[in-house]
Amino acid sequence: MNNFVTDAINLKAYNLSESDKIIVMYSKDKGLIKGVAKGVKKPKSKLGARMDLLVANKLMLYKGKNLDRICQAEALNTFHKTRQNMDKIFYSMYITEVVNNFGVEDDPCSKEIYDLLYKALDKISNAIDNVEILIAVIKFQLKMMAISGFGIELDTCLCCGETVKDCNMYFSSKMGGIVCESCNETLKANALMHYKLRDFLNACLQYDFDYVSEYDEKANEKVCSVCFELLKDYINIHSSKKFKSTNILQEIK
Ligand SMILES: [Zn+2]
Repeated sequence: MNNFVTDAINLKAYNLSESDKIIVMYSKDKGLIKGVAKGVKKPKSKLGARMDLLVANKLMLYKGKNLDRICQAEALNTFHKTRQNMDKIFYSMYITEVVNNFGVEDDPCSKEIYDLLYKALDKISNAIDNVEILIAVIKFQLKMMAISGFGIELDTCLCCGETVKDCNMYFSSKMGGIVCESCNETLKANALMHYKLRDFLNACLQYDFDYVSEYDEKANEKVCSVCFELLKDYINIHSSKKFKSTNILQEIK
């Protein structure tokens, strides 16, 4: 069998020739994949808009010697409400970049990551305000890191291992988790974190992606932005590839 079928989300595209492109995708069955979209730049292309970034497709690919070729694509979700909103576009680009940087070929966790990316893109697309967008991004950041083996510690101090309860604590983006007040006296390089902020992050990490917890309802844009930045720094430090979308985000804010 030289053909295979999988669901995949378009993450990136490169020009291959005057009419062809290479699409980098994250697939449900094989993790990161690349495929040649032949003739996609021609006006009458069969594949057309389905090869745009941030589209989820059911694909049929033909296994080639070097590169696989995309033979058929049926759009599953174009996340169309994202396409009219700059914030939604940038946060969607950011999470696809995280998947591109941390996802691997033949990923054993491909189904889990695909489902998480799909749900996050869908939630961002349908969000009614920036808080909803940011909560979806934060949930994605925490869960994606946990699946990729870079889980963030939110219960016990990373230095002494003591459980940190209802008191001030610090967050280390470098180490990826919380540090208690007394251990922080020697470290000093971390961001102060109220325990309620930690509880919010813990809820985002533990509960199902679609579950709306009491913390989601209470969260405001400022709290969400602080959490997003802390997690973004942690993800940046642990990524082997440099991020491009976050520079754009900084420029427009
Ligand atoms: Zn400690």
